[in-house]
Amino acid sequence: MKIVSPVDEPGGSGRGGSTFTGEVFTYVTMEYTDGAAVTNVCFTPGARTFWHSHENGQILLVLAGKGWTQSDGQSKQVIRAGDTVWVPAGELHWHGATNQSYMTHKAISLGNTAWSQAVSDADYQQDVS
Ligand code: MN
Repeated sequence: MKIVSPVDEPGGSGRGGSTFTGEVFTYVTMEYTDGAAVTNVCFTPGARTFWHSHENGQILLVLAGKGWTQSDGQSKQVIRAGDTVWVPAGELHWHGATNQSYMTHKAISLGNTAWSQAVSDADYQQDVS
């Protein structure tokens, strides 16, 4: 057993780069341990991940706000505080805030993450199914 307590330092922030569009604030609560990592991510309005997949899947626990998520070949869906999202292994997807709200989730990522291209504005702004 291993108990990882938060450290007394601010999380990182990012804007742009090769994994996120827009401004996000990340806080790693558990570095990769036996293939699992736990990270809190706060997305500002309009911010979202690039398209990506997780080797062994990912659990998203939506803690606050309202966001959008989409898997490749499916319609965009709304996620809200209290929702739990299971992303199957290898499924190409993205997640982020809506264009008018913040969204914070705790992400439990299993295995390596494979990053792809940015989510286009057309994909991001599409109507919710
Ligand atoms: Mn993901």
